[in-house]
Amino acid sequence: MNSRVIAIANQKGGVGKTTTAVNLASAVALLGKKVLLVDCDPQGNATSGVGLSPNGTHPQLYHVMIGQSRTSEAIFDTDIDGLSILPSGMDLAGVEAEISMEGEKRYFYLKRALKGVQGEFDYVFLDCPPSLGMLTINALSVARSVVIPLQCEYYALEGLSLLVQSIRKVKQTLNPLLYIGGLILTMFDQRTRLTYQVAKEVKVHFRDLVFRTTIPRNVRLSEAPSHGKPIFLYDPDSRGAEAYMILAREFLKREGGKS
Ligand code: ATP
Ligand code: MG
Repeated sequence: MNSRVIAIANQKGGVGKTTTAVNLASAVALLGKKVLLVDCDPQGNATSGVGLSPNGTHPQLYHVMIGQSRTSEAIFDTDIDGLSILPSGMDLAGVEAEISMEGEKRYFYLKRALKGVQGEFDYVFLDCPPSLGMLTINALSVARSVVIPLQCEYYALEGLSLLVQSIRKVKQTLNPLLYIGGLILTMFDQRTRLTYQVAKEVKVHFRDLVFRTTIPRNVRLSEAPSHGKPIFLYDPDSRGAEAYMILAREFLKREGGKS
């Protein structure tokens, strides 16, 4: 299978990376694709978001990265047909101390981890932590594209140029095929003028890279993780579920146009 790896990244915290990773991955799986969600964040929110415990005794990304588990042993089915998870938890925070920090090798641990299993999936989504540290750079080094969630608030664009610079640098040095797959406006509040101002400004800078689909602020999306469920299992009729399904269709349409 010719799989495609997508990093969901933004070093700004709380912008909707995990919500997007969990629900976009779920929607793409529900549309018939084989999907792997990789939790690259020691917070383990994507892991718990699909119903696994980040503190469980099962093998996790950390064990794979330090060579203690095989990748295939750390991949688990979820309650969404076609969606698998490679979980993480607090252990992952210590990974930098335990792997070799010499040379470029340190940026390719995730790439090596995914090599043997990637072919089993149409899409691999990487949920990145809110930093531009080792784990995010590992994700950018294996990804084909980066999808950037942006929260529609006043400081949405702050830090974005640093992220774009980092992506450019990784492209120049570690991963020449990397490109920005798109920006997603999240927590879109149709009632506020600020939302529209931010959306307008983002479009001035990024034009067609901005997904046409926006994700509304929807309380059901924020409740679902505490039940360990993607929105499609928690409340399939919610506006949040509808938005992520439309986003998944737009995403697949864009992907279809690329080689
Ligand atoms: P971190 O940087 O900590 O990893 P993140 O970028 O992954 O955060 P999320 O965890 O997805 O962000 O979202 C931050 C908070 O906002 C969470 O409580 C989440 O449930 C809530 N949230 C995300 N998207 C929406 C939305 N569209 N409507 C309402 N709440 C949302
Ligand atoms: Mg997160």
